[in-house]
Amino acid sequence: MRLIVLGAGSIVPTPYRFGSGHYVEAGESKLLLDCGPGVLEKMRNLSLSPFKLTAILLTHFHIDHVSDIFPLLKLRAFTPEGLPNKSPEKLKILGPKGLKRFLETLIDNNEFFSYLKTLMRYESYISLEEVEPWRVFEFEGVRLTSAPVTHDGGVAYRLESHGASLVYSGDTRFSENLVKLAEGVDVLVHECSFPHERLVGQHVSEVELAQIVAHVKPKTVVVTHLYPIWEGEEHRIVKTLEQSYRCRVIIARDCIEVLI
Ligand SMILES: [Zn+2]
Ligand SMILES: [Zn+2]
Repeated sequence: MRLIVLGAGSIVPTPYRFGSGHYVEAGESKLLLDCGPGVLEKMRNLSLSPFKLTAILLTHFHIDHVSDIFPLLKLRAFTPEGLPNKSPEKLKILGPKGLKRFLETLIDNNEFFSYLKTLMRYESYISLEEVEPWRVFEFEGVRLTSAPVTHDGGVAYRLESHGASLVYSGDTRFSENLVKLAEGVDVLVHECSFPHERLVGQHVSEVELAQIVAHVKPKTVVVTHLYPIWEGEEHRIVKTLEQSYRCRVIIARDCIEVLI
């Protein structure tokens, strides 16, 4: 399994982090975990073809996790040469309950974007699946499990393929479900939005993340979804995690690669 962090931040850009998105090659699948702003541009810079993506897994519907899905859906109606594609490759889109309504609201019933449906017939080249928490879903050599987390109806995902495993938290507060989903995982990709003294919203700080890591006992933790307030202070996350459980800690930046 191969992980490339495309967007290790949220909505406010910094020199190293912007948007939320993670590219994973697992089994036969080339997938995105979230598709926030800048994800397509990072893929272009890394020569990762958006035409070869087989699946997109959305954790929730906040702008910093979904905004690039619209240009992605449009470009898939074309060939890489920019010509209309008569038979575009199917793209799986998975997400929590609300996924269908999300696309209906923002595309089908939106007079400005509905040409994706009426002209480009985007529904003919995607397959939608609202994931049922804890139900195991198998596709293209990947075993996928999701769990509800505490963040506006969001879910976390566990991917397993060829003996390797990865869990991606999406956004969440401390979540017992996440801990259960991630138990013994090889790589835990977890958000750490704010330092403890500045924690706001449905997120975790380095203190909750240290508790999570101590429970989960991953081989590697990739810390992602860092707000600008962390710039230059990331060593505090490493220190807090080390006091709780010894494992490899990677503070994510855009475009880093992790082999699993
Ligand atoms: Zn977010
Ligand atoms: Zn969010």
